[in-house]
Amino acid sequence: MFKKILIANRGEIALRIQRACRELGVKAVMVYSEADRDAKYIKLADESVCIGPAPSAQSYLNMPAIISAAEVTDAEAIHPGYGFLSENADFAERVEKSGFKFIGPTPDSIRIMGDKVSAKQTMIRAGVPCVPGSEGALPDDPVVIKRTAKQVGYPVIIKAAGGGGRGMRVVHTEAALIHAVQTTKTEAGAAFGNPEVYMEKFLQNPRHIEIQILADQHKNAVWLGERDCSMQRRHQKVIEEAPAPGIPRKLIERMGERCVAAVKKIGYRGAGTFEFLYENGEFYFIEMNTRVQVEHPVTEWITGVDIVRTQIMVAAGQKLPFVQRDIQLKGHSIECRINAEDPYKFIPSPGRITTWHTPGGPGVRVDSHIYANYFVPPNYDSMIGKIIVHGDTREQALARMRTALAETVVEGINTNIPLHRELMVDAKFMDGGTNIHYLEEWLSKRDR
Ligand code: ADP
Repeated sequence: MFKKILIANRGEIALRIQRACRELGVKAVMVYSEADRDAKYIKLADESVCIGPAPSAQSYLNMPAIISAAEVTDAEAIHPGYGFLSENADFAERVEKSGFKFIGPTPDSIRIMGDKVSAKQTMIRAGVPCVPGSEGALPDDPVVIKRTAKQVGYPVIIKAAGGGGRGMRVVHTEAALIHAVQTTKTEAGAAFGNPEVYMEKFLQNPRHIEIQILADQHKNAVWLGERDCSMQRRHQKVIEEAPAPGIPRKLIERMGERCVAAVKKIGYRGAGTFEFLYENGEFYFIEMNTRVQVEHPVTEWITGVDIVRTQIMVAAGQKLPFVQRDIQLKGHSIECRINAEDPYKFIPSPGRITTWHTPGGPGVRVDSHIYANYFVPPNYDSMIGKIIVHGDTREQALARMRTALAETVVEGINTNIPLHRELMVDAKFMDGGTNIHYLEEWLSKRDR
């Protein structure tokens, strides 16, 4: 096992990784930007190193600064968390070339699966169905683009091969097609340094279902059940749960087994998630995330597996401490992402938190780095924590989430807690199985 790990991230996930290190008896080095200097989780770390000013580009995305921090502190491995550099193959490569272990897959796996076009091609070869669409990246020729869209059938969605759902565009008519492709390309080039885009059929009412896997470097791999992340706004997840309500187990098991087969085929190591859209009883692969995800706690709760701890163990060369038949799903878990934002207008609400009272009791977990008098910096993602609950049944989990949200008090800034409180008593959500458009439709009805 490593003696010391550097955590190249911030906020709740940095604290989550630090906790896993503690449990393993591994020393944790935190890096921080000037905006995060005073945060408690930095003070809690065994060591900490400032890596630059507040803007991410100069700190949490600053590869040389992070690698030097690992050098000066004698860390042996780097955990990238999620976001920032976690899916950057060049970073993983530089980390390993500098003599550190990257806690994640190999740079090659990140390259193959991080590029959505090559990921889809890999999955098709592994026998996993994908959303119908262009074969590979779209060419420049408008005639070919129009022909492809006609074959796929409108509406279509234009997506960047390089990542990040924020730049996706839905196109309903041929008249809007070429302009949409061009703008998405320009944006993708600027945001991800890769202007390649591809086309998919825009599914009308799918659910977002994803499968968590864990693999070691000794060819062992397991899948840890699924998560339903259909409650989204602007393609960003708001509520996640496991298992997914109402989907036949047999279908999910078949997908899980195929994901494990794909993982073994590409020699993948570490944690990863296969994301699918599920519509009319069919699964369609959309992308793989080659890192730990925000919503990993719901899986941890129904399987009893500590995903972050296992990531560290397999990065250190250990074998997975379990096999597939050890993975038994128990009960139901739900996560609400707590964001510093207006609950209905979604305007970010950074600033000083004056009151922070978190819930507790049976089946309640809070993953957050926040405390009273914490200042939410305006520079980063608005998520300030997660409330996760577990119950024997979905009904019990919902009841626990309602109680947990009722107990939570955050003052000084706005949060989306009022929105979560409303959703937890929404009849359709309580029934289970709402699709990826449900939350936005619900919000637009609420506005009227
Ligand atoms: P990201 O890189 O942001 O995770 P994804 O490809 O995973 O991007 O897509 C994010 C979300 O966008 C999905 O969960 C889904 O809500 C929506 N989406 C993506 N592809 C399609 C599609 N073909 N049809 C309908 N919705 C889609």
